[in-house]
Amino acid sequence: PHEGILRRQSLRESAARTYARSLPIVPVRARGLTIEGADGRRYLDCLSGAGTLALGHNHPVVLEAIKKVLDSGAPLHVLDLATPVKDAFTTELFATLPREFADNARIQFCGPAGTDAVEAAFTLVRAATGRSGLLAFTGAYHGMTAGALAASGGAEDVRVTRLPFPQDYRCPFGTGGEHGAELAARWTESVLDDPKSGTPAPAGMILEPVQGEGGVNPAPDAWMRRMREITAARSIPLIADEVQTGVGRTGAFWAVEHSGVVPDVMVLSKAIGGSLPLAVIVYRSELDTWQPGAHAGTFRGNQLAMAAGAATLAYVRENGLADRAAGLGARMLASLRALASHHPCIGDVRGRGLMIGVELVDPEAAPVGTGGEAPPDPVLATAVQQECLRRGLIVELGGRHSTVVRLLPPLTLTDEQATAVVDRLADALAAAAR
Ligand code: PMP
Repeated sequence: PHEGILRRQSLRESAARTYARSLPIVPVRARGLTIEGADGRRYLDCLSGAGTLALGHNHPVVLEAIKKVLDSGAPLHVLDLATPVKDAFTTELFATLPREFADNARIQFCGPAGTDAVEAAFTLVRAATGRSGLLAFTGAYHGMTAGALAASGGAEDVRVTRLPFPQDYRCPFGTGGEHGAELAARWTESVLDDPKSGTPAPAGMILEPVQGEGGVNPAPDAWMRRMREITAARSIPLIADEVQTGVGRTGAFWAVEHSGVVPDVMVLSKAIGGSLPLAVIVYRSELDTWQPGAHAGTFRGNQLAMAAGAATLAYVRENGLADRAAGLGARMLASLRALASHHPCIGDVRGRGLMIGVELVDPEAAPVGTGGEAPPDPVLATAVQQECLRRGLIVELGGRHSTVVRLLPPLTLTDEQATAVVDRLADALAAAAR
């Protein structure tokens, strides 16, 4: 069945298919970190539904929560009506949000996807400010619907002003770190304050506290606070896209907690649905100038996702999995950095919690005498991903020219599993770098 399914799907599906192209596996069973293919092979899944599976595949508490709804006779399709399941989900979600934010916040169910919630955030800040432009960053990823796509890195849209992310000031000019973050912040100020920049007062600024698809670029805390300062001083709502960074992934329950920044809008999806589709925005109640019916959608009431999500949020909170992610992530980063000292093709290792990126470069092609960095090596990155797969490890590629190996394991990862992941990646690197 394995080969037949792969062949038929490759013929029937659009050439745009992504994961199915680089990961030719046919998953038939899964539990925790492990996926079993139709060919009987087992894989350690560090893609985790692109960061969705905080508790890994088919966690018992998630399955139990879903079964409970199915067995209760409750309606599965309720549009956006109030239900006990929705009540429990909302209560649990608000209990996890930073107090300062949650105490004066409203929620709008969007959905089903993260990109829907991004659109809702844009509509909300446009309605609240009466303005239309948006500020977004290089390297950003916000989704595939029109507005979200326009705000993502690489896309061009007249309504979106693109600002430099601290990562832009990494190596080419020998800067980076705190200094690079400050340069990026000053650029942002100059764009906003220079009448000649042609940027009309925007409706909002959207950022990811750690850029995920953009290649795991953590925003320095000081830069996050500068963005809060800059937007607050100009009454620009700050939208934190925590679709990928939320629910403990980065070592805090929400990634904005690292910097202490309180955003005006939070965009949440992926892990909040406990592996099923769910997306919401939570925002400062003063922004709620929407008229009744101003935001709609047929699939805003996914009862199974809300039950699975509430169980996931509670489990992460009760078991301190954000702290666990911080500790394990730091250990894995240290091991990977040690590995980098033997492999000149590792250009950078970065991350926060269990959101980790290993950037692959071609050291041979580094410009001589300029102090410039080695260029990204997409051929090597693809080879490493395939060598990982041969060793039973599923990793995603992201970032500049897809040269960043991304690790997004579940927060339930054991110490032994973390070691196995690093070991397999090290073997794959050694094989591919030859
Ligand atoms: N924002 C971020 C930060 C994301 O990582 C993603 C998905 N990778 C999205 C938005 C879009 O979510 P979805 O794919 O569910 O539309």
